[in-house]
Amino acid sequence: MSFTVHGLGVSQGIAIGHAHLVSHALLEVAHYTIAPKHMEAEVLRLQGAVAEVKAELTGLKVSTSSGTAPSEVDAFVGMHIMFLEDPMLVGAAENLIRTRRANAEWALVQQMEQLVDQFEAIEDAYLRERKADVVQVVERIVKVLLGHPGHLPPKRKDGLGTIVVAHDLSPTDTIGFKEHAVAGFITDVGGPTGHTAIVARSLSIPAVVALRHIRHVVKDDELIIIDGTRGIVIVAPDERILEEFRLRKAELELERSKLKRLKSTRAATLDGEEVQILANIELPPDATQAKAVEADGVGLFRTEFLFMSRDSWPDEDEQFEAYKTVLKTMAGKPVTVRTLDVGADKELEGASRQEDNPALGLRAIRYCLAEPKMFLTQLRALLRASHFGKLKILIPMLSSSNEIDQTLILLDKARNQLRERRIKFDENVPVGGMIEVPAAALCLGAFTRRLDFLSIGTNDLIQYALAIDRGNEAVAHLYNPLHPAVLRLIHQTIQAGAKAGIPVSVCGEMAGDPDCARLLIGMGLRQFSMHPAQILEVKQAILRADASDLTAKVQKLLKLDDPDKVREAVDRL
Ligand code: PEP
Ligand code: MG
Repeated sequence: MSFTVHGLGVSQGIAIGHAHLVSHALLEVAHYTIAPKHMEAEVLRLQGAVAEVKAELTGLKVSTSSGTAPSEVDAFVGMHIMFLEDPMLVGAAENLIRTRRANAEWALVQQMEQLVDQFEAIEDAYLRERKADVVQVVERIVKVLLGHPGHLPPKRKDGLGTIVVAHDLSPTDTIGFKEHAVAGFITDVGGPTGHTAIVARSLSIPAVVALRHIRHVVKDDELIIIDGTRGIVIVAPDERILEEFRLRKAELELERSKLKRLKSTRAATLDGEEVQILANIELPPDATQAKAVEADGVGLFRTEFLFMSRDSWPDEDEQFEAYKTVLKTMAGKPVTVRTLDVGADKELEGASRQEDNPALGLRAIRYCLAEPKMFLTQLRALLRASHFGKLKILIPMLSSSNEIDQTLILLDKARNQLRERRIKFDENVPVGGMIEVPAAALCLGAFTRRLDFLSIGTNDLIQYALAIDRGNEAVAHLYNPLHPAVLRLIHQTIQAGAKAGIPVSVCGEMAGDPDCARLLIGMGLRQFSMHPAQILEVKQAILRADASDLTAKVQKLLKLDDPDKVREAVDRL
Protein backbone atom coordinates (compact mmCIF):
# COMPACT_ATOMS: atom_id res chain seq x y z
CA MET A 1 0.00 0.00 0.00
CA SER A 2 1.24 3.45 -0.87
CA PHE A 3 1.98 5.96 1.90
CA THR A 4 3.75 9.30 2.34
CA VAL A 5 6.24 10.31 5.03
CA HIS A 6 7.23 13.90 5.75
CA GLY A 7 10.73 14.96 6.71
CA LEU A 8 13.22 17.71 5.96
CA GLY A 9 14.19 18.16 2.34
CA VAL A 10 17.91 18.89 2.39
CA SER A 11 18.83 18.42 -1.24
CA GLN A 12 16.44 19.44 -4.00
CA GLY A 13 15.04 17.44 -6.86
CA ILE A 14 13.03 14.31 -7.47
CA ALA A 15 14.39 10.79 -7.37
CA ILE A 16 12.57 7.58 -8.21
CA GLY A 17 14.24 4.30 -7.32
CA HIS A 18 14.39 1.12 -5.30
CA ALA A 19 15.12 1.13 -1.58
CA HIS A 20 18.43 -0.19 -0.35
CA LEU A 21 18.35 -0.48 3.43
CA VAL A 22 21.65 0.28 5.04
CA SER A 23 22.06 -0.89 8.56
CA HIS A 24 24.94 0.49 10.48
CA ALA A 25 26.27 -2.97 10.85
CA LEU A 26 24.28 -6.13 10.71
CA LEU A 27 22.91 -6.07 7.17
CA GLU A 28 26.42 -5.64 5.81
CA VAL A 29 27.69 -8.90 7.17
CA ALA A 30 29.36 -10.89 4.45
CA HIS A 31 29.48 -14.70 4.61
CA TYR A 32 32.73 -16.27 3.53
CA THR A 33 34.94 -19.19 4.40
CA ILE A 34 38.30 -18.72 6.05
CA ALA A 35 41.26 -20.80 4.85
CA PRO A 36 42.57 -23.06 7.67
CA LYS A 37 45.91 -21.23 7.77
CA HIS A 38 44.10 -17.91 8.40
CA MET A 39 41.74 -19.21 11.07
CA GLU A 40 43.77 -18.09 14.08
CA ALA A 41 44.26 -14.65 12.53
CA GLU A 42 40.48 -14.41 12.12
CA VAL A 43 40.00 -15.33 15.78
CA LEU A 44 42.50 -12.62 16.70
CA ARG A 45 40.62 -10.12 14.50
CA LEU A 46 37.46 -10.88 16.45
CA GLN A 47 39.26 -10.62 19.78
CA GLY A 48 40.81 -7.29 18.74
CA ALA A 49 37.38 -5.86 17.89
CA VAL A 50 35.94 -7.14 21.17
CA ALA A 51 38.82 -5.54 23.10
CA GLU A 52 38.18 -2.24 21.30
CA VAL A 53 34.47 -2.30 22.16
CA LYS A 54 35.28 -3.22 25.75
CA ALA A 55 37.65 -0.26 26.07
CA GLU A 56 34.98 1.98 24.56
CA LEU A 57 32.30 0.72 26.97
CA THR A 58 34.60 0.90 29.97
CA GLY A 59 35.37 4.52 29.06
CA LEU A 60 31.63 5.19 28.87
CA LYS A 61 31.07 3.55 32.25
CA VAL A 62 33.72 5.70 33.89
CA SER A 63 32.20 8.87 32.47
CA THR A 64 28.61 7.92 33.35
CA SER A 65 29.45 6.84 36.90
CA SER A 66 31.37 10.04 37.61
CA GLY A 67 28.85 12.30 35.90
CA THR A 68 25.21 13.10 36.17
CA ALA A 69 23.90 10.37 33.88
CA PRO A 70 21.07 8.30 35.37
CA SER A 71 22.18 5.15 37.12
CA GLU A 72 20.19 3.03 34.62
CA VAL A 73 22.60 4.14 31.90
CA ASP A 74 25.48 2.94 34.00
CA ALA A 75 23.69 -0.37 34.59
CA PHE A 76 23.08 -0.89 30.87
CA VAL A 77 26.70 -0.21 30.01
CA GLY A 78 27.68 -2.67 32.74
CA MET A 79 25.35 -5.26 31.25
CA HIS A 80 26.82 -4.75 27.78
CA ILE A 81 30.30 -5.32 29.17
CA MET A 82 29.01 -8.48 30.82
CA PHE A 83 27.67 -9.77 27.48
CA LEU A 84 31.03 -9.04 25.90
CA GLU A 85 32.70 -11.24 28.49
CA ASP A 86 30.12 -14.02 28.25
CA PRO A 87 31.65 -17.16 26.67
CA MET A 88 28.21 -17.90 25.16
CA LEU A 89 28.73 -14.98 22.81
CA VAL A 90 32.33 -14.32 21.84
CA GLY A 91 33.72 -17.68 22.96
CA ALA A 92 31.05 -19.52 20.95
CA ALA A 93 31.68 -17.29 17.91
CA GLU A 94 35.41 -18.14 18.12
CA ASN A 95 34.37 -21.77 18.08
CA LEU A 96 32.37 -21.22 14.90
CA ILE A 97 35.39 -19.63 13.23
CA ARG A 98 37.49 -22.67 14.12
CA THR A 99 34.95 -25.41 13.44
CA ARG A 100 32.93 -23.97 10.52
CA ARG A 101 35.65 -21.66 9.16
CA ALA A 102 33.14 -18.78 9.23
CA ASN A 103 34.41 -15.20 8.97
CA ALA A 104 34.32 -13.28 12.26
CA GLU A 105 31.25 -11.13 11.50
CA TRP A 106 29.24 -14.10 10.29
CA ALA A 107 30.22 -16.26 13.26
CA LEU A 108 29.24 -13.52 15.66
CA VAL A 109 25.88 -12.85 14.02
CA GLN A 110 25.04 -16.57 13.93
CA GLN A 111 25.78 -16.85 17.62
CA MET A 112 23.79 -13.72 18.35
CA GLU A 113 20.77 -15.19 16.53
CA GLN A 114 20.99 -18.31 18.70
CA LEU A 115 21.07 -16.22 21.86
CA VAL A 116 18.20 -14.02 20.68
CA ASP A 117 16.10 -17.18 20.11
CA GLN A 118 16.87 -18.31 23.64
CA PHE A 119 15.93 -14.92 25.09
CA GLU A 120 12.67 -14.93 23.16
CA ALA A 121 11.67 -18.17 24.90
CA ILE A 122 12.03 -16.58 28.36
CA GLU A 123 8.75 -15.81 30.11
CA ASP A 124 9.91 -12.89 32.19
CA ALA A 125 9.28 -9.79 30.02
CA TYR A 126 12.24 -7.87 31.42
CA LEU A 127 14.70 -10.66 30.75
CA ARG A 128 13.15 -11.29 27.33
CA GLU A 129 13.83 -7.71 26.36
CA ARG A 130 17.53 -8.16 27.09
CA LYS A 131 17.87 -9.65 23.63
CA ALA A 132 18.01 -6.05 22.36
CA ASP A 133 21.14 -5.54 24.45
CA VAL A 134 22.82 -8.58 22.93
CA VAL A 135 22.00 -7.22 19.48
CA GLN A 136 23.42 -3.81 20.37
CA VAL A 137 26.64 -5.32 21.69
CA VAL A 138 27.04 -7.40 18.54
CA GLU A 139 26.31 -4.34 16.39
CA ARG A 140 29.12 -2.50 18.12
CA ILE A 141 31.58 -5.32 17.49
CA VAL A 142 30.53 -5.79 13.87
CA LYS A 143 30.86 -2.06 13.28
CA VAL A 144 34.47 -2.19 14.47
CA LEU A 145 35.09 -5.26 12.33
CA LEU A 146 33.62 -3.64 9.23
CA GLY A 147 34.73 -0.08 9.59
CA HIS A 148 32.72 0.92 6.48
CA PRO A 149 29.10 1.48 5.51
CA GLY A 150 28.78 -1.53 3.25
CA HIS A 151 28.37 -2.19 -0.40
CA LEU A 152 25.68 -0.88 -2.67
CA PRO A 153 23.83 -3.16 -5.04
CA PRO A 154 24.80 -3.16 -8.73
CA LYS A 155 22.79 -1.09 -11.25
CA ARG A 156 19.31 -2.45 -11.95
CA LYS A 157 17.93 -3.46 -15.30
CA ASP A 158 14.80 -1.26 -15.11
CA GLY A 159 17.03 1.82 -15.26
CA LEU A 160 15.90 3.09 -11.85
CA GLY A 161 18.55 3.98 -9.34
CA THR A 162 19.14 3.07 -5.73
CA ILE A 163 17.61 5.03 -2.88
CA VAL A 164 19.76 4.60 0.20
CA VAL A 165 17.62 4.25 3.33
CA ALA A 166 19.54 4.57 6.60
CA HIS A 167 19.17 5.58 10.19
CA ASP A 168 21.96 8.06 9.70
CA LEU A 169 24.90 8.44 7.38
CA SER A 170 28.28 9.82 8.28
CA PRO A 171 29.87 12.28 5.83
CA THR A 172 32.30 9.53 4.90
CA ASP A 173 29.44 7.13 4.05
CA THR A 174 27.96 9.81 1.83
CA ILE A 175 31.28 10.55 0.16
CA GLY A 176 31.41 6.82 -0.67
CA PHE A 177 28.30 7.35 -2.86
CA LYS A 178 30.39 9.43 -5.25
CA GLU A 179 31.56 6.16 -6.75
CA HIS A 180 28.07 4.64 -7.05
CA ALA A 181 24.94 5.49 -8.99
CA VAL A 182 22.83 6.51 -6.02
CA ALA A 183 19.59 8.26 -6.98
CA GLY A 184 18.81 9.68 -3.56
CA PHE A 185 18.93 9.12 0.14
CA ILE A 186 16.59 9.24 3.09
CA THR A 187 17.48 8.98 6.77
CA ASP A 188 15.78 8.76 10.14
CA VAL A 189 17.83 11.62 11.59
CA GLY A 190 19.83 14.65 10.40
CA GLY A 191 19.51 18.39 9.84
CA PRO A 192 19.67 20.74 6.85
CA THR A 193 23.30 21.71 7.23
CA GLY A 194 24.77 18.50 8.57
CA HIS A 195 27.67 17.49 6.42
CA THR A 196 25.71 14.60 4.91
CA ALA A 197 23.14 17.05 3.60
CA ILE A 198 25.94 19.20 2.21
CA VAL A 199 27.53 16.26 0.45
CA ALA A 200 24.13 15.25 -1.01
CA ARG A 201 23.70 18.73 -2.44
CA SER A 202 27.20 18.68 -3.84
CA LEU A 203 26.36 15.40 -5.58
CA SER A 204 23.06 16.90 -6.78
CA ILE A 205 21.16 13.93 -5.41
CA PRO A 206 17.79 14.52 -3.75
CA ALA A 207 17.74 13.81 -0.03
CA VAL A 208 15.21 13.93 2.78
CA VAL A 209 16.33 13.56 6.41
CA ALA A 210 14.70 13.56 9.86
CA LEU A 211 12.08 10.99 8.80
CA ARG A 212 12.23 9.38 12.25
CA HIS A 213 11.53 5.66 11.59
CA ILE A 214 11.85 5.37 7.85
CA ARG A 215 14.26 2.45 8.07
CA HIS A 216 11.63 0.40 9.85
CA VAL A 217 8.72 1.14 7.53
CA VAL A 218 10.44 0.65 4.18
CA LYS A 219 11.27 -2.78 2.79
CA ASP A 220 14.38 -3.56 0.80
CA ASP A 221 13.84 -3.07 -2.94
CA GLU A 222 10.52 -1.27 -2.50
CA LEU A 223 9.78 1.50 -5.01
CA ILE A 224 10.27 4.96 -3.54
CA ILE A 225 9.84 8.55 -4.70
CA ILE A 226 11.81 11.32 -2.98
CA ASP A 227 10.84 14.95 -3.35
CA GLY A 228 13.85 16.70 -1.87
CA THR A 229 12.33 20.14 -2.45
CA ARG A 230 9.19 19.51 -0.45
CA GLY A 231 10.72 17.04 2.00
CA ILE A 232 8.40 14.14 1.23
CA VAL A 233 8.95 10.47 0.60
CA ILE A 234 6.31 8.34 -1.11
CA VAL A 235 6.66 4.63 -0.49
CA ALA A 236 5.18 2.11 -2.97
CA PRO A 237 3.48 4.76 -5.16
CA ASP A 238 0.63 3.74 -7.47
CA GLU A 239 0.92 4.21 -11.24
CA ARG A 240 -0.89 7.58 -11.23
CA ILE A 241 1.44 9.14 -8.64
CA LEU A 242 4.43 7.61 -10.33
CA GLU A 243 3.45 9.21 -13.64
CA GLU A 244 2.91 12.60 -12.00
CA PHE A 245 6.38 12.53 -10.45
CA ARG A 246 8.02 11.27 -13.64
CA LEU A 247 6.58 14.33 -15.36
CA ARG A 248 7.71 16.69 -12.63
CA LYS A 249 11.18 15.17 -12.69
CA ALA A 250 11.38 15.67 -16.46
CA GLU A 251 10.30 19.32 -16.08
CA LEU A 252 12.97 19.94 -13.46
CA GLU A 253 15.58 18.40 -15.69
CA LEU A 254 14.48 20.65 -18.54
CA GLU A 255 14.79 23.74 -16.31
CA ARG A 256 18.25 22.60 -15.29
CA SER A 257 19.34 22.15 -18.87
CA LYS A 258 18.05 25.65 -19.75
CA LEU A 259 20.17 27.08 -16.94
CA LYS A 260 23.25 25.66 -18.64
CA ARG A 261 23.02 28.51 -21.14
CA LEU A 262 24.12 30.88 -18.36
CA LYS A 263 27.47 29.15 -17.90
CA SER A 264 29.60 31.70 -19.69
CA THR A 265 27.48 34.74 -18.79
CA ARG A 266 29.28 37.03 -16.33
CA ALA A 267 27.35 37.39 -13.08
CA ALA A 268 26.22 40.98 -12.62
CA THR A 269 23.08 42.63 -11.29
CA LEU A 270 20.67 44.63 -13.50
CA ASP A 271 22.36 47.84 -12.34
CA GLY A 272 25.80 46.55 -13.29
CA GLU A 273 27.25 45.37 -9.95
CA GLU A 274 29.75 42.59 -10.72
CA VAL A 275 29.43 39.48 -8.55
CA GLN A 276 31.87 36.60 -8.21
CA ILE A 277 30.44 33.10 -7.92
CA LEU A 278 32.91 30.53 -6.67
CA ALA A 279 32.62 26.82 -5.96
CA ASN A 280 32.77 24.78 -2.76
CA ILE A 281 34.56 21.47 -3.23
CA GLU A 282 35.34 18.48 -1.02
CA LEU A 283 37.82 16.43 -3.04
CA PRO A 284 40.13 17.27 -5.96
CA PRO A 285 37.92 15.62 -8.65
CA ASP A 286 35.09 18.03 -7.67
CA ALA A 287 37.12 20.82 -9.26
CA THR A 288 36.13 19.40 -12.65
CA GLN A 289 32.50 20.06 -11.77
CA ALA A 290 33.43 23.63 -10.75
CA LYS A 291 35.18 24.13 -14.08
CA ALA A 292 32.24 22.66 -16.01
CA VAL A 293 29.89 25.39 -14.74
CA GLU A 294 32.61 28.03 -15.25
CA ALA A 295 32.87 29.02 -11.60
CA ASP A 296 35.06 32.08 -10.95
CA GLY A 297 37.32 29.89 -8.84
CA VAL A 298 37.15 27.69 -5.77
CA GLY A 299 35.94 29.65 -2.74
CA LEU A 300 36.13 26.75 -0.29
CA PHE A 301 38.06 23.51 -0.55
CA ARG A 302 37.13 21.49 2.55
CA THR A 303 40.41 19.61 2.97
CA GLU A 304 39.20 17.42 5.84
CA PHE A 305 37.73 14.99 3.32
CA LEU A 306 41.31 14.12 2.31
CA PHE A 307 41.91 13.06 5.90
CA MET A 308 38.74 11.05 6.47
CA SER A 309 38.02 7.32 5.91
CA ARG A 310 41.63 6.28 6.36
CA ASP A 311 43.89 5.06 9.14
CA SER A 312 46.64 7.65 8.84
CA TRP A 313 46.94 11.30 7.83
CA PRO A 314 48.01 12.06 4.26
CA ASP A 315 51.68 13.06 4.21
CA GLU A 316 53.06 16.31 2.77
CA ASP A 317 53.59 14.93 -0.75
CA GLU A 318 50.12 13.42 -0.99
CA GLN A 319 48.51 16.65 0.16
CA PHE A 320 50.71 18.72 -2.13
CA GLU A 321 49.59 16.63 -5.11
CA ALA A 322 45.91 17.04 -4.14
CA TYR A 323 46.15 20.83 -3.81
CA LYS A 324 48.23 21.13 -6.98
CA THR A 325 45.63 19.09 -8.92
CA VAL A 326 42.91 21.55 -7.95
CA LEU A 327 45.05 24.59 -8.80
CA LYS A 328 45.93 23.12 -12.16
CA THR A 329 42.31 22.20 -12.92
CA MET A 330 41.23 25.75 -12.12
CA ALA A 331 43.92 27.06 -14.50
CA GLY A 332 44.86 30.39 -12.92
CA LYS A 333 41.52 31.08 -11.23
CA PRO A 334 41.73 31.62 -7.44
CA VAL A 335 41.56 28.54 -5.22
CA THR A 336 40.82 29.05 -1.52
CA VAL A 337 41.91 26.04 0.48
CA ARG A 338 40.63 25.74 4.02
CA THR A 339 42.96 24.13 6.54
CA LEU A 340 41.76 21.00 8.29
CA ASP A 341 38.33 21.45 9.87
CA VAL A 342 37.83 18.22 11.80
CA GLY A 343 35.79 17.66 14.91
CA ALA A 344 32.02 17.78 15.52
CA ASP A 345 30.41 15.58 12.84
CA LYS A 346 33.59 15.30 10.75
CA GLU A 347 35.50 12.67 12.67
CA LEU A 348 38.87 11.25 11.79
CA GLU A 349 39.17 7.48 11.76
CA GLY A 350 40.29 6.11 15.13
CA ALA A 351 40.16 9.56 16.74
CA SER A 352 41.41 8.98 20.25
CA ARG A 353 39.68 11.96 21.81
CA GLN A 354 36.06 11.46 22.82
CA GLU A 355 34.30 14.70 23.63
CA ASP A 356 30.89 15.13 25.22
CA ASN A 357 30.17 18.26 23.21
CA PRO A 358 32.37 18.12 20.13
CA ALA A 359 30.83 21.11 18.31
CA LEU A 360 32.14 23.24 21.17
CA GLY A 361 35.30 21.22 21.54
CA LEU A 362 38.67 20.74 19.95
CA ARG A 363 37.49 21.47 16.42
CA ALA A 364 39.03 23.06 13.31
CA ILE A 365 41.81 25.58 14.11
CA ARG A 366 41.77 24.49 17.77
CA TYR A 367 42.55 20.94 16.69
CA CYS A 368 45.28 22.11 14.29
CA LEU A 369 46.98 24.25 16.92
CA ALA A 370 46.90 21.27 19.29
CA GLU A 371 48.57 19.13 16.59
CA PRO A 372 51.27 21.53 15.30
CA LYS A 373 53.25 18.83 13.52
CA MET A 374 50.25 17.80 11.47
CA PHE A 375 49.30 21.45 10.87
CA LEU A 376 52.82 22.36 9.71
CA THR A 377 52.73 19.46 7.25
CA GLN A 378 49.52 20.82 5.76
CA LEU A 379 50.86 24.38 5.62
CA ARG A 380 54.05 23.24 3.84
CA ALA A 381 51.99 21.22 1.34
CA LEU A 382 49.80 24.26 0.69
CA LEU A 383 52.73 26.63 0.23
CA ARG A 384 54.40 24.20 -2.17
CA ALA A 385 51.19 24.01 -4.20
CA SER A 386 51.00 27.83 -4.31
CA HIS A 387 53.73 27.78 -6.96
CA PHE A 388 51.21 26.22 -9.39
CA GLY A 389 48.34 28.71 -9.31
CA LYS A 390 46.50 31.39 -7.35
CA LEU A 391 46.24 29.86 -3.90
CA LYS A 392 44.63 31.41 -0.84
CA ILE A 393 44.68 29.85 2.64
CA LEU A 394 41.56 29.97 4.81
CA ILE A 395 41.51 29.28 8.56
CA PRO A 396 38.29 27.81 10.01
CA MET A 397 36.44 28.55 13.23
CA LEU A 398 38.57 31.40 14.55
CA SER A 399 37.32 33.04 17.69
CA SER A 400 40.16 35.24 18.85
CA SER A 401 43.20 37.12 17.61
CA ASN A 402 45.76 34.90 19.30
CA GLU A 403 44.62 31.95 17.19
CA ILE A 404 45.40 34.04 14.10
CA ASP A 405 48.78 35.06 15.53
CA GLN A 406 49.71 31.47 16.33
CA THR A 407 48.66 30.35 12.85
CA LEU A 408 50.72 33.10 11.20
CA ILE A 409 53.76 32.09 13.28
CA LEU A 410 53.37 28.48 12.15
CA LEU A 411 52.95 29.64 8.57
CA ASP A 412 56.24 31.56 8.83
CA LYS A 413 57.88 28.47 10.23
CA ALA A 414 56.56 26.43 7.28
CA ARG A 415 57.96 29.06 4.88
CA ASN A 416 61.38 28.86 6.53
CA GLN A 417 61.38 25.08 6.37
CA LEU A 418 60.66 25.23 2.63
CA ARG A 419 63.35 27.88 2.11
CA GLU A 420 65.85 25.57 3.80
CA ARG A 421 64.79 22.84 1.38
CA ARG A 422 65.08 25.35 -1.50
CA ILE A 423 61.49 24.73 -2.57
CA LYS A 424 59.68 27.48 -4.47
CA PHE A 425 56.39 28.91 -3.28
CA ASP A 426 54.34 32.09 -3.60
CA GLU A 427 55.71 34.49 -0.95
CA ASN A 428 52.44 36.44 -0.90
CA VAL A 429 49.79 33.79 -0.44
CA PRO A 430 46.75 35.60 1.01
CA VAL A 431 45.59 34.28 4.37
CA GLY A 432 41.95 34.62 5.35
CA GLY A 433 39.73 33.62 8.23
CA MET A 434 36.31 32.11 8.50
CA ILE A 435 33.73 34.05 10.46
CA GLU A 436 31.65 31.26 11.97
CA VAL A 437 31.69 32.05 15.67
CA PRO A 438 29.63 35.06 16.87
CA ALA A 439 32.63 36.22 18.95
CA ALA A 440 34.57 36.75 15.71
CA ALA A 441 31.72 38.64 14.02
CA LEU A 442 31.57 40.95 17.04
CA CYS A 443 35.31 41.73 17.17
CA LEU A 444 36.07 42.16 13.49
CA GLY A 445 38.87 44.72 13.93
CA ALA A 446 41.16 41.99 15.27
CA PHE A 447 40.46 40.01 12.10
CA THR A 448 40.58 42.73 9.45
CA ARG A 449 43.90 44.01 10.84
CA ARG A 450 45.59 40.62 10.60
CA LEU A 451 43.99 38.89 7.62
CA ASP A 452 43.77 39.43 3.86
CA PHE A 453 40.16 38.29 3.43
CA LEU A 454 37.16 36.92 5.33
CA SER A 455 34.72 34.18 4.51
CA ILE A 456 31.46 33.83 6.42
CA GLY A 457 30.60 30.23 7.28
CA THR A 458 26.90 30.68 7.82
CA ASN A 459 26.28 27.01 8.64
CA ASP A 460 28.30 27.30 11.81
CA LEU A 461 27.53 30.96 12.45
CA ILE A 462 23.82 30.08 12.66
CA GLN A 463 24.56 27.01 14.80
CA TYR A 464 26.63 28.98 17.30
CA ALA A 465 24.50 32.14 17.31
CA LEU A 466 21.22 30.28 17.88
CA ALA A 467 22.63 27.42 19.99
CA ILE A 468 21.23 24.86 17.53
CA ASP A 469 23.25 21.74 16.85
CA ARG A 470 23.22 21.69 13.04
CA GLY A 471 23.09 17.88 12.97
CA ASN A 472 20.32 17.40 15.52
CA GLU A 473 16.92 16.77 13.94
CA ALA A 474 15.13 17.49 17.23
CA VAL A 475 16.03 21.17 16.91
CA ALA A 476 16.25 21.37 13.12
CA HIS A 477 13.01 23.38 12.95
CA LEU A 478 14.67 26.10 15.03
CA TYR A 479 17.65 26.41 12.69
CA ASN A 480 16.83 29.70 10.99
CA PRO A 481 19.22 31.47 8.59
CA LEU A 482 16.84 34.43 8.60
CA HIS A 483 16.91 35.04 12.35
CA PRO A 484 17.53 38.80 12.77
CA ALA A 485 20.53 38.13 15.04
CA VAL A 486 22.16 36.02 12.34
CA LEU A 487 21.47 38.60 9.64
CA ARG A 488 22.98 41.38 11.74
CA LEU A 489 26.16 39.35 12.32
CA ILE A 490 26.47 38.70 8.57
CA HIS A 491 25.73 42.32 7.64
CA GLN A 492 28.21 43.64 10.19
CA THR A 493 30.93 41.38 8.77
CA ILE A 494 30.28 42.42 5.16
CA GLN A 495 30.33 46.09 6.14
CA ALA A 496 33.50 45.77 8.28
CA GLY A 497 35.28 44.09 5.37
CA ALA A 498 34.23 46.86 2.98
CA LYS A 499 35.40 49.52 5.43
CA ALA A 500 38.77 47.83 5.91
CA GLY A 501 39.09 47.23 2.16
CA ILE A 502 39.33 43.45 2.40
CA PRO A 503 37.16 41.03 0.43
CA VAL A 504 34.37 39.16 2.20
CA SER A 505 32.59 36.10 0.86
CA VAL A 506 29.86 33.81 2.13
CA CYS A 507 30.64 30.11 1.73
CA GLY A 508 27.93 28.54 3.91
CA GLU A 509 24.75 27.00 2.55
CA MET A 510 22.97 30.39 2.51
CA ALA A 511 25.09 31.49 -0.44
CA GLY A 512 23.65 28.72 -2.61
CA ASP A 513 20.00 29.56 -1.91
CA PRO A 514 18.63 31.92 -4.61
CA ASP A 515 16.30 33.74 -2.14
CA CYS A 516 19.12 34.32 0.31
CA ALA A 517 21.35 35.43 -2.57
CA ARG A 518 19.08 38.45 -3.18
CA LEU A 519 19.17 39.27 0.50
CA LEU A 520 22.96 39.00 0.59
CA ILE A 521 23.29 41.24 -2.48
CA GLY A 522 21.22 43.80 -0.59
CA MET A 523 23.62 43.50 2.37
CA GLY A 524 26.51 44.40 0.07
CA LEU A 525 27.92 40.94 -0.59
CA ARG A 526 29.69 40.55 -3.94
CA GLN A 527 31.40 37.19 -3.50
CA PHE A 528 29.48 33.92 -3.12
CA SER A 529 30.80 30.39 -2.79
CA MET A 530 28.55 27.33 -3.14
CA HIS A 531 28.33 23.83 -4.53
CA PRO A 532 28.90 23.78 -8.26
CA ALA A 533 25.40 22.30 -8.66
CA GLN A 534 23.86 25.52 -7.30
CA ILE A 535 25.93 28.06 -9.23
CA LEU A 536 23.72 28.52 -12.29
CA GLU A 537 20.50 28.93 -10.34
CA VAL A 538 22.08 31.57 -8.09
CA LYS A 539 23.58 33.28 -11.14
CA GLN A 540 20.09 33.51 -12.63
CA ALA A 541 18.81 35.16 -9.42
CA ILE A 542 21.70 37.65 -9.49
CA LEU A 543 21.14 38.52 -13.14
CA ARG A 544 17.52 39.39 -12.27
CA ALA A 545 18.41 41.44 -9.16
CA ASP A 546 18.71 45.20 -8.81
CA ALA A 547 21.41 45.84 -6.20
CA SER A 548 20.47 49.42 -5.29
CA ASP A 549 16.79 48.56 -4.91
CA LEU A 550 17.69 45.53 -2.77
CA THR A 551 20.08 47.62 -0.62
CA ALA A 552 17.29 50.03 0.32
CA LYS A 553 14.85 47.22 1.12
CA VAL A 554 17.40 45.23 3.12
CA GLN A 555 18.27 48.29 5.25
CA LYS A 556 14.66 48.31 6.46
CA LEU A 557 14.49 44.53 6.84
CA LEU A 558 17.55 44.57 9.11
CA LYS A 559 15.69 46.69 11.64
CA LEU A 560 13.07 43.96 12.22
CA ASP A 561 13.32 41.91 15.42
CA ASP A 562 10.72 39.27 14.64
CA PRO A 563 11.99 36.27 12.62
CA ASP A 564 8.55 35.75 11.00
CA LYS A 565 8.45 39.35 9.81
CA VAL A 566 11.96 38.94 8.39
CA ARG A 567 10.81 35.86 6.49
CA GLU A 568 7.86 37.80 5.00
CA ALA A 569 10.15 40.70 4.04
CA VAL A 570 12.62 38.31 2.37
CA ASP A 571 9.77 36.70 0.42
CA ARG A 572 8.84 40.16 -0.87
CA LEU A 573 12.39 41.03 -2.00
C1 PEP B 1 30.11 26.87 7.36
O1 PEP B 1 30.18 26.60 8.57
O2 PEP B 1 29.25 27.62 6.88
C2 PEP B 1 31.08 26.29 6.42
C3 PEP B 1 31.14 26.67 5.17
O3 PEP B 1 31.89 25.30 6.90
P1 PEP B 1 31.43 23.79 7.14
O4 PEP B 1 30.04 23.65 6.62
O5 PEP B 1 32.41 22.92 6.43
O6 PEP B 1 31.52 23.67 8.62
MG1 MG C 1 31.97 25.64 9.28
